[in-house]
Amino acid sequence: MTYDHFFSAALARLHAERRYRVFADIERVAGRFPYAIWHSPNGPQPVVIWCSNDYLGMGQHPKVIGAMVETATRMGAGAGGTRNISGTNHPLVELERELADLHNKEAALVFTSGYVSNETGIATIAKLLSNCVILSDASNHNSMIEGVRRAGAEKKIWRHNDVGHLEELLAAEGPERPKLVVFEALYSMDGDIAPVNRICELAKRYGAMTYIDEVHSAGMYGRGGAGIAAREGALHRIDVVEGTLAKAFGCLGGYIAGSTDVIDAVRSYAPGFIFTTALPPAICAAATAAIRHLKVSQWERDCHQERAARVKSVLNVAGLPVMLNETHIVPVMVGDPEKCKEASDLLLAEHGIYVQPINYPTVPRGTERLRITPTPYHDDKLIDALAEALVDVWGRLGLPLRHHALAAE
Ligand SMILES: *Cc1c(COP(=O)(O)O)cnc(C)c1O
Repeated sequence: MTYDHFFSAALARLHAERRYRVFADIERVAGRFPYAIWHSPNGPQPVVIWCSNDYLGMGQHPKVIGAMVETATRMGAGAGGTRNISGTNHPLVELERELADLHNKEAALVFTSGYVSNETGIATIAKLLSNCVILSDASNHNSMIEGVRRAGAEKKIWRHNDVGHLEELLAAEGPERPKLVVFEALYSMDGDIAPVNRICELAKRYGAMTYIDEVHSAGMYGRGGAGIAAREGALHRIDVVEGTLAKAFGCLGGYIAGSTDVIDAVRSYAPGFIFTTALPPAICAAATAAIRHLKVSQWERDCHQERAARVKSVLNVAGLPVMLNETHIVPVMVGDPEKCKEASDLLLAEHGIYVQPINYPTVPRGTERLRITPTPYHDDKLIDALAEALVDVWGRLGLPLRHHALAAE
């Protein structure tokens, strides 16, 4: 019996649906972000990265690199084991204190990724709420969907950001039944924001626990980078804040923050925490340096917003189908998987511009897009070059350009 044909058939299905993915071979250059080297089939070429989730460039900040190198030199490369078996490295203790403080919660718990924190965090919390029902926003990230699945609890999906629908679902449950409402602060494909206060009001009225994913907002919004719930004045009404150390903080790892008991219970029951090796001390120290820097430095946040607004405005004036929103995400609609991939290929090969195509299943079919993420380090010249390149590619692929720019919201 041979098994390879199962795998080649699976790959052939992806090719047939034009969903087969190819990753660009990129070498980032610390100190020169957003410039990088693309290892193309014809050898290395300089490119400008326009699709990084290192939103603030903290992955190359001297303080962050310094903390990582210094800590690795003193403490070595790895953590040496799971925390249950080998204890907790001191930099991880400091990181959890910093995170609890950032989100104004009693405690925090770090996982190996944001994905794992949602997957094992949501599942564990829901399992500990006996007979609970989970209410989940329809646009929640795959890591949250997997967390909900693993909980094995009843789940109800509410229409994206539709608080009327959420209320209907909450009202249908008995007042005594435990309810867990899970949602994102900022949805990273459309760049829209959850009505956090209205969700929290409903949670209070119907006695539900709240769990918010601030992966695309922590570090970037709110005072000191505390996130969207903090900016909206709703942080005290959120039971659990989840986030990543890999996006605005430029490193690796995920976390939840909440009350001492919630955090201690997840620490004690979550398999995705217990049975895996802890983050290395150097990464913990680097993440702590990034969080501390962004707590006191407003420059990155202000510049990030200003650059994103400029990109949207320049692309819009050029007639490109940019989706206007109030955040740092700049989606440019293509609406066809093949053209989306071709647009990305042309930008990279002929303009030295790297923007990964976003196709199904990351976004619904028919809404394929280029997702552009400006950072504080994309200057006016780069923005103008991006607009020119996009207009050229749009023309070559026969994609429509608008004659009149949309009025800004
Ligand atoms: C990226 C992402 C995660 C996962 O975080 P990682 O640290 O990359 O594993 C979780 N939630 C959302 C909404 C994300 O976009």
